[in-house]
Amino acid sequence: MKKDSILYIVVPCYNEEEVLKITTKKLKTKLNNLIKEKIISKESKVMYVNDGSKDKTWELIEEISNKEELFTGISLSRNRGHQNALLGGLLTAKDYADVIISMDADLQDDINAIDEMLEKYYDGNDIVYGVRSSRKKDSLFKKLTAEGFYKFMLMMGVDIVYNHADYRLMSKRVVEELSNFKEVNLFLRGIFPIIGFKSDKVYYQREKRVAGGSKYPLKKMLSFAFDGITSFSVKPIKMVLNIGIIIFVISLIMIIYSIIRKAIGATVAGWTFIVCSIWLISGIQMLSLGIIGEYIGKIYSETKQRPRFIISKNLLNKNDK
Ligand code: UDP
Ligand code: MG
Repeated sequence: MKKDSILYIVVPCYNEEEVLKITTKKLKTKLNNLIKEKIISKESKVMYVNDGSKDKTWELIEEISNKEELFTGISLSRNRGHQNALLGGLLTAKDYADVIISMDADLQDDINAIDEMLEKYYDGNDIVYGVRSSRKKDSLFKKLTAEGFYKFMLMMGVDIVYNHADYRLMSKRVVEELSNFKEVNLFLRGIFPIIGFKSDKVYYQREKRVAGGSKYPLKKMLSFAFDGITSFSVKPIKMVLNIGIIIFVISLIMIIYSIIRKAIGATVAGWTFIVCSIWLISGIQMLSLGIIGEYIGKIYSETKQRPRFIISKNLLNKNDK
């Protein structure tokens, strides 16, 4: 892989007027150093994505991109949420860049990890995941809820990288493959492990927000986790089916038990009939729900029309190593 790749750093921004100047200053120094050391091309840029901010974020982005050659921006027509803003930025940047890094505007993700990410990219990795090695600077509440989030997702069968959010490096071809995932309920960190290719991790300390408040309160985080699970896993449906099978088996045992009680006369009139009916009907209901759920799960994954395979190397293509 040639060194001197064009790097685009994609940064979604929602009401970030307080942090944008500081972020710009830091990223400018970083990019200039990388260009000077000939690690990246001088055509590299930072692309801010304004996600329908209600404050002066877009005006600031325009001002910065007029003044600074290394900065550019796009603006969404309205607020669509972090994941959609990020996707918009990635799919726009891929037409200009060889390699893209996504990061938040608040500099909570250590920008010094960029060097190591690029090193791993030049070593032949197509995806480099930024992983938080510790959350000392997060409040206890944020730490517990955030880590619980990853554990719960893994438990529910979603293949994600533990403690990795959306700080990651992606090669151009990875983002091109991403554009074939047409799903509307976006959970990007679940998609990249599906895309595959050679990948690695870079560890960093999660910092405090440089200014402003979190745009991800607990309520948003919970709905994000729920979105992630229901977009990537049919495990909840499988659980319904399993419960259905268990209740059905118990119902058969209960029916035999009630008939025995009836036979030995240890029952009042009507009891056997009622008990048998309740168990049998609820057992059949749960089982049916589970079976219907299995079909719905299949329909759901069909409607997403995700690619069934992605080719990483083709020997007929002379450019592939
Ligand atoms: N963000 C966005 N659209 C939204 C909410 C957030 O683009 O609707 C951006 C925000 O500007 C920031 C990133 O997403 O760059 C992460 O948000 P934040 O730092 O508030 O989340 P936290 O780090 O607290 O989880
Ligand atoms: Mg943040």
